[in-house]
Amino acid sequence: MYDTIIIGAGPGGMTAALYAARSNMKVLLLEQGAPGGQMNNTAEIENYPGYDTIIGPELSMKMYEPLEGLGVENAYGIVQTVEDAGEFKTVITEDTTYEAKTVIIATGANHRKLGVPGEEEFGARGVSYCAVCDGAFFRDQDILVVGGGDSAVEEAMFLTRFGREVTIVHRRDELRAQKIIQERAFKNPKIKFIWDSAIEEITGDERKVRAVKIKNLKTGEITDKEVGAVFIYVGLLPQTSTVQNLGILDGEGWVITDDHMRTSVPGIFAIGDVRQKDLRQITTAVGDGAMAANEAYKYIVSL
Ligand code: FAD
Ligand code: NAP
Repeated sequence: MYDTIIIGAGPGGMTAALYAARSNMKVLLLEQGAPGGQMNNTAEIENYPGYDTIIGPELSMKMYEPLEGLGVENAYGIVQTVEDAGEFKTVITEDTTYEAKTVIIATGANHRKLGVPGEEEFGARGVSYCAVCDGAFFRDQDILVVGGGDSAVEEAMFLTRFGREVTIVHRRDELRAQKIIQERAFKNPKIKFIWDSAIEEITGDERKVRAVKIKNLKTGEITDKEVGAVFIYVGLLPQTSTVQNLGILDGEGWVITDDHMRTSVPGIFAIGDVRQKDLRQITTAVGDGAMAANEAYKYIVSL
């Protein structure tokens, strides 16, 4: 019986593990991939206090390394369901059943798909959701980025290291990204913008992406643009299929918590991007993690 099982080893989950272990709790951190979560797909992080800039995978390792020394148990597992039996909870992966007094859901979010023809077909041949993973494959090519948020604009800037030109296609005439990020992109001579437009189709040959059809949403005009790659950053989807049975989700699938990270199920907490919240950042995930571990500790003492 663990004191707490943390599902997901992104920045939120790793911080919860740190705080829970330092409260002498018996902690299991369950992860389906490499520790770090979305940070592993991020080129440069410039807004994590203490660092001018740090690459995502490096910050992941810096958060992960101290955990082992503190006695946090790590296990690989894709969590299938979480069941509530009152004073204990059951966490079921594809091959193991674990029990704990508390559960902290830290499963984060995943990229949303665009849903246009060609997106699936060219999945590993020029369509990507991760600039840091795939950008270097498209050296000296024209690269297209879809979206107008922080991810699209920041990752477009990263892609200018490789691409001859990087074009951001956005469905409105104004970006959603933070102003400081926008200003840098506007000053970057390798970045072009196509406003008020949507991708209709991604086309190519048996080897790779070659072009996109772009529709101007104001005039209806459709143009073809030759590109070597399409990077899609059109927002996030909550990773909550495993906790659907608990009745803790809002209409869009985000977990509802109070300010103490408590869900409506006593002993089950949620942190980071998976929560219904305004600001999805590493700093806010980390803060949530510290709060949830502290609340889990208080909950166990109260049992
Ligand atoms: P995540 O990082 O999403 O981690 C969740 C973890 O849970 C993952 O490792 C996943 O594998 C695991 N998991 C999910 N489901 C299961 C399951 N069923 N079983 C087991 N494990 C599971 N924020 C900033 O502050 N600064 C930035 O510069 C910045 N840049 C970004 C760039 C990009 C391209 C993106 C996409 C995001 C960026 N963000 C940035 C946002 C930031 O990465 C997130 O807010 C943060 O990672 C959220 O942390 P988290 O711990 O809540 O979840
Ligand atoms: P986001 O903020 O939700 O932005 C998604 C963008 O995609 C929006 O511009 C949206 O357009 C557009 N979009 C959505 N659906 C679309 C569709 N079907 N077709 C075309 N365009 C579509 O997502 P994000 O940029 O991935 O950011 C996610 C979270 O991570 C945010 O909280 C963000 O702040 C955080 N993040 C932070 C940093 C950083 O701090 N440096 C970096 C990256 C991400 P509209 O604008 O018209 O809605």
